[in-house]
Amino acid sequence: MTNTPDSTQSFKSGFAAIVGAPNVGKSTLLNALIGEKVSIISPKPQTTRNRITGILHGEGFQIVFLDTPGIHNSTKIFNKKLVEVAVSVINDVDLILVVIDAASPDPGSENLIVEKLHQSKKSPAILAINKVDLVRKPKLLSVIDRWAKAYTFNEIIPVSATEGIQVPELLSAMKNLLPDGPPFFPDDIVSDLPVRFIASEMIREKIFLLTDQEIPFATAVTIDSFKEDAEKNLVTIHATIHVEKDSHKGIIIGKQGAMLRAIGEAARQDIEEMMESKGFLKIFVRVDKNWSKDLKALKRLGY
Ligand code: GDP
Ligand code: MG
Repeated sequence: MTNTPDSTQSFKSGFAAIVGAPNVGKSTLLNALIGEKVSIISPKPQTTRNRITGILHGEGFQIVFLDTPGIHNSTKIFNKKLVEVAVSVINDVDLILVVIDAASPDPGSENLIVEKLHQSKKSPAILAINKVDLVRKPKLLSVIDRWAKAYTFNEIIPVSATEGIQVPELLSAMKNLLPDGPPFFPDDIVSDLPVRFIASEMIREKIFLLTDQEIPFATAVTIDSFKEDAEKNLVTIHATIHVEKDSHKGIIIGKQGAMLRAIGEAARQDIEEMMESKGFLKIFVRVDKNWSKDLKALKRLGY
């Protein structure tokens, strides 16, 4: 307890990654955290491929949640790529929320998560031990003990997402660990800004999935125009992928434009699903020498 939080003095905001194996209850917990006070910006909170799943507008704070694909050991190349995405998200956020299932230990995932936490740039990390409604106290204590020995978390909080046990405590622990900063998004979610932002994140996600690991960190995606035609049930989007180097531009475009087409095609499918309409997506690639790798740079780029 080093400092006294004072909501009138400063605003806190940050990106939080939810990390954990499949089925531990990440989506359920996110919904429980978000509750009624906040807005889920993704119409499909149950999908775990989309990186941004919600924006929580709290009293004096805002958390932008990034969901991650489940971290698990997998031999399939595609799943490996998803694991890479999850791992790289860890390095890109202000706060890591690791979620585990108290009732079914999964040593493979646990080892991988702990290993990646050790390799990460050491963002504050909270361990939420979910589904405590399913275990007895001695078992819970042994789970806590094992994890406390494996990694130095800022907080370890037993919760139940479905029963709502200790969800407010988890939320206030998250708030306390957020850095000071202005909100990333206006709290009226009525504007189409969040949808635009999700669309840009969907494009960014495809860059993650389809290119090598250093490329995504050197890119930002902006949505230049976003037009919905209700009559035709069509959304027309112009987006720009900003890269730092000519060589990165070459990689993003690919041989005869193949990479850019693959990124655009995959992103368009996601956008069509999100918007429940037909989509037309045109992506430009631009070299911007000096933009920061920080996610916050998106703000300066117009978000
Ligand atoms: P995800 O894959 O990590 O996003 O997991 P989900 O949120 O989809 O949850 C997986 C399953 O666990 C679902 O059937 C949930 O209803 C269930 N679940 C989630 N949280 C809890 C909990 O606190 N207690 C119990 N008993 N079940 C839970
Ligand atoms: Mg999920």
